[in-house]
Amino acid sequence: MKARGHTLLLLAFFLWLGVAPSAWARPDVSLGETLKLLGLQPVQSLKTDPAESERYAGKNLPDVFAENKKPYITIGGVKVWLTESLIVIKGNLAIDRVDYDKVLVPLIWRNKAPFGIGFRRIVIDPGHGGKDPGIMSKAYNYAEKSATLDTALRLKIILEKLGFEVLLTRDKDKFVELSDRCDYANKVKADLFISLHFNGGGPKDSTTSGIETYCLTVAGESSTNQSKKTASSIMLPGNRLDALNLLLAWSVHLRTVNTMGTEDRAVKRARFAVLKSLNCPGILVEGGFISSQTEGAQIANPNHRQKLAESIAAGIIDYSNRLKP
Ligand SMILES: [Zn+2]
Repeated sequence: MKARGHTLLLLAFFLWLGVAPSAWARPDVSLGETLKLLGLQPVQSLKTDPAESERYAGKNLPDVFAENKKPYITIGGVKVWLTESLIVIKGNLAIDRVDYDKVLVPLIWRNKAPFGIGFRRIVIDPGHGGKDPGIMSKAYNYAEKSATLDTALRLKIILEKLGFEVLLTRDKDKFVELSDRCDYANKVKADLFISLHFNGGGPKDSTTSGIETYCLTVAGESSTNQSKKTASSIMLPGNRLDALNLLLAWSVHLRTVNTMGTEDRAVKRARFAVLKSLNCPGILVEGGFISSQTEGAQIANPNHRQKLAESIAAGIIDYSNRLKP
C-alpha cells in the first residue's frame, strides 16, 4: 500500500510539472565535460552564433559546434546526425550518452588513438541498373543508374592508381539485387564498401540540392528522417563496425561537401539493405540531387562526376590516414 501511495504521489508530481517522466530518463551528459575528456576546450563564440550554442577546439582535433535543440552536431565543419537532439541542462548543452559513444568517441577520440589497421580491397557499388533506373532527369535526359556507373568507373581508376584493388558490384547496365551487392562484398572479402547514388526530391521539387552520406543506424535507435517507432534493438552484422562506418562516412562527407561546394545535408543513418550485413566498413553516398535544376545539370556533366569521384577518393585516403597509429 505504501509503495502504491509513493507511485501516485510521484505521478501527481510529474503531472504538476507538466512533463512526461521519460523526459527525465534521458541519459544526457554535459557536452563540455565530455569534450574536455576527449581533448577539446571551449572557445569564443562568433558574433553570428545563435544563443545557446557552444564552440570547442583542440590541437590536431576537429572543431566542434553545437546548438540547442538541433538534431545534429557540426564536427570538422560538417553536420553529423545525432540519435537525440541536443538540449540545455542548467545553462549548458548536454548530449545523449549514445551519441557520446557512437559519434564523439569515433570521430574525436579516435583522432588521437587510431584503430591501427590498414586496408586494400575496395568494393564500389554503382546504385540501381538494368530494369531499375533510379531517379530520372527529365530536364537533362539521363538516369541515376548511368550517373552512378560512370562515377564508379572513374572512382575505380583513381583508387587503382593509388594502389588499391577495386571491384565493382556491376560494371555494366544490369540489374543486381540489393542483398547480392552486400553478399558480393562479403564473398570477395572486401575491406571497404562504397555504394554510389544520386538523390531526388518530391514531384514538384526542383530546388533541393546537396550531398548526404549514410552509414548504418546504431542498434536500438531510429534512422534519420524516421519516427521513433522504427527504432530496432536488433544488432545487425554491420553494427559490429559502427565506429569505422561513421569515421568512413564523415571522412568522405568532409571531402565531397567541401570540394563540390554544395549544401551539407549531413552524415545520416539508415538501415539500407546494402549496408546491413556487411563484414567490412561501408557507406552509401547520395552525391547530389538529379531533380534539382542546377545540381541535376551539374551531375549530367562528366567533369562534375570526375570531381565527385576524386573527392570520394580523397575522403577514403583521409580515412586510411586516420586509421594509422
Ligand atoms: Zn539511388
